Amino acid sequence: MLKNVRWHIVPSLFCNYSCDHCCNHSGPQMKKSLSQKELQSLKRGMMTHNPSELQFVGGEPSLFIDEINEIISYHNHYDKINISLATNGWFATTTTRAIKYLKKFKRLTHIQMSFDIFHNSRSKKEYVINMDQACKTLNLNFNLSITITDVKELVLAKELIQEFGVSAAIGKVESSGRALINGIAFKYPAYDNSVVDKRCTNLEGITFIANKGFTICSSNLIFNHDIPEMFSESIEDLYSNKYFQLLKKCTMGEISKKLKVEMLNDPKYSSVCANCEYLFTTYWKNNNEKNKAK
Ligand code: SF4
Repeated sequence: MLKNVRWHIVPSLFCNYSCDHCCNHSGPQMKKSLSQKELQSLKRGMMTHNPSELQFVGGEPSLFIDEINEIISYHNHYDKINISLATNGWFATTTTRAIKYLKKFKRLTHIQMSFDIFHNSRSKKEYVINMDQACKTLNLNFNLSITITDVKELVLAKELIQEFGVSAAIGKVESSGRALINGIAFKYPAYDNSVVDKRCTNLEGITFIANKGFTICSSNLIFNHDIPEMFSESIEDLYSNKYFQLLKKCTMGEISKKLKVEMLNDPKYSSVCANCEYLFTTYWKNNNEKNKAK
């Protein structure tokens, strides 16, 4: 039995917004949702492994209430665990509407609202205030998630946080999905070699993505490439997946040695995920070329 494992569940990559910095191409063009087979696989995994936390992310997961409520009900102790929803906050046009909407979920303990006014997102300041009020009324934890592409945006982000008086997580825009296409990933001023000793950023978690399966990755490797080896149909298969084992156990420097791919001292590889993407995709490319040459 797995203990203290957080599951990130992506019920769909469908989103009502289409932000420039989106890390996974989510948007109105992504229509697919979970199949019955996938729901059964989630059910089996959830009942056997009892994850300590569920995080619903997307896409815009708040558009999939029925699916989310069904998944929550699979957990043997859903009323005792933390369950969070990452949302763009589209429904918080008034506090009353936000309360009504959040009450439709079987259980939530935490709302994380993306507020990325820097990148063509349609989030509005008043929605943040309404969502904060709604969470206070329903006794839910609330925080903002703000992503930045440049150190200059850090100052603006801090001013916003002060203005709202809420807690916030500030993250860097990764070079994945639409952010990569639009060339708006965070620009590192110089190579940060501490990345050599860092591990996968999703070490405590398992990701489940609709129409793909279970994986460790929640970033560049799965959103910039279509790599079947990174996905498994069940939790048991995932745990025996050699790439999962490698990412769980090794630092980027150790992975570089095991895959026999040298790390590059380029500022853009200061990010763990960009580095990881480079190591694995170079390894797979080299292997394919060797296989073709045989
Ligand atoms: S890109 Fe690599 S380091 Fe980043 S979340 Fe995916 S597997 Fe982990």
